[in-house]
Amino acid sequence: MKKNKTIDNMKAFPKVDLHRHLEGSVRPETFIEVSKKYGGKLPFYDLVNLKPIFQADPDCCDFKTFLSKFNIYRDFYESKEAIQEVTYRAVKEAALDNVRYLELRFSPTHFAANKKFNESDVILWMEEAIGIASKDYNIIVTPILTISRDFGLDLAAKTVNLVLGMRDRFFCGLDIAGNETISSLKPFKVLFEKVKDAGMGLTVHAGEAGGPVNVREALLVFHADRIGHGIRSVEDEALMGMIRDRDVMLEVCITSNLHTGVVKSLNEHPIKKIKNSGVPFCLNTDDPAVSALCLTDEYCKAVFDFGFTVEDLNKMNLSALYHSFYPDKNYLNKNLSFLWE
Ligand SMILES: [Zn+2]
Repeated sequence: MKKNKTIDNMKAFPKVDLHRHLEGSVRPETFIEVSKKYGGKLPFYDLVNLKPIFQADPDCCDFKTFLSKFNIYRDFYESKEAIQEVTYRAVKEAALDNVRYLELRFSPTHFAANKKFNESDVILWMEEAIGIASKDYNIIVTPILTISRDFGLDLAAKTVNLVLGMRDRFFCGLDIAGNETISSLKPFKVLFEKVKDAGMGLTVHAGEAGGPVNVREALLVFHADRIGHGIRSVEDEALMGMIRDRDVMLEVCITSNLHTGVVKSLNEHPIKKIKNSGVPFCLNTDDPAVSALCLTDEYCKAVFDFGFTVEDLNKMNLSALYHSFYPDKNYLNKNLSFLWE
């Protein structure tokens, strides 16, 4: 009884999500509906068969299998309408979960790939869909550009240059994703410098499947403002001190870490250690559709399994707003910070 009450409270609790991939926010139900309306090939057209392909299997977790889910999505999008619909729904679902501030990251290359759309067109379509959804559902959405280390520097550079050359700056930050265990990020340094010079924030997926050495590099060599996951930083005491001193935020995604097999069981997750260390951190979904969850589920884990209090969550969300990539912090403070004070 008490637990259910708290779940209701957590649903109603205003939330911030700084680490959510649009690519991983499209639920199997949405794929089927969008496919019927606008076309788009799926391996199956019924939920029973489609879910195991698109969603992580909690009994069989490994990093490569998790990443492979995104290759299936890549060949799906056939039209502007399909892209706009999945974008709109992703924002709507976040808002219905009472996420009040969302940083939604995505790769225009991913959505453009199937039909070889112009990436600049895709960005404008996304912008329109996000604008309408955020008005309809009263949520502030900040777009972040994702590039992948897996597809090489040339492709990433093309997208970054395109984004920097657009008249109106749509993206407020850059994220680099992909498999951190197989290649070095050093060649991408030139792109990180470019986006930082242009005033965009930088977040680097590191210290997830790879060790603390990758977080160290993201901090010292790339001057990342935030780290995607970064949970393995706890293995290196000195690094934790460095993250704290530099005021770099760790974007923690508890369930995703289980589904990628990076953390073997919930009680082994270092979230409590991170909280106690004083390092800035926040709770996020990563890929809500792949992990079949919403941010409320993650807040419940924090409360029920790790003993977080409402004060802890308030403090965390204020810190997340402070570390957000939204260009006008005064606006955010005026419109949102009272929710957590
Ligand atoms: Zn991620």
